[in-house]
Amino acid sequence: MTNSEHTSPESTSPESTAGAAGSADDAIVPDTKDWTWVLERPCADCGLDAGAVVREDVAGMIRANAAGWAAVLAGDPEELRRRPRPEIWSDLEYACHVRDVFRLFDVRLNLMLEQVDPLFPNWDQDETAVAERYGEQRPAVVAVELAEAAEVLAAAFEGVAGAQWARTGNRSDGARFTVESFSRYLIHDPLHHLYDVTGERV
Ligand SMILES: [Zn+2]
Repeated sequence: MTNSEHTSPESTSPESTAGAAGSADDAIVPDTKDWTWVLERPCADCGLDAGAVVREDVAGMIRANAAGWAAVLAGDPEELRRRPRPEIWSDLEYACHVRDVFRLFDVRLNLMLEQVDPLFPNWDQDETAVAERYGEQRPAVVAVELAEAAEVLAAAFEGVAGAQWARTGNRSDGARFTVESFSRYLIHDPLHHLYDVTGERV
């Protein structure tokens, strides 16, 4: 599943981690969906209408989401490590993913702000989850790291002004973003995954 980002952007979904019905092992099925549709219509699962998000609100939404994850990660570590089904990420694994999404999107945002129409380096979320041993990380540490990554990204978006919102960047699968559409695209991922673990719609 190398280079799955060609067809799998960073947003895992319930489908992305629930596609192995009948599988006897704990293999996570790579996301094969292009989640840029979240900019076109509301998400029927988490309820977010990302296309309607006010760009200046994204920084605050990132911080609020991070607070939600802090509450999740304060729970029982054994429960946090438990996968609801073998092929679905545990709450801890989702939290690790969101932390890394915040980090990745800060890198991509800065690329767009500093370079002309950059091409984003690939990121395979499923390979990362395995390579970084998400399921073995310490929830208390992840909580701190997620909060830090969220604050860095929120502050980066707060620093965006004027014509910077129209700067562009490209994913290797051909998806093209402006900083503005990127902000709306980004915010769906952590909100959707908080819904995945709490069941609370946006
Ligand atoms: Zn959603």
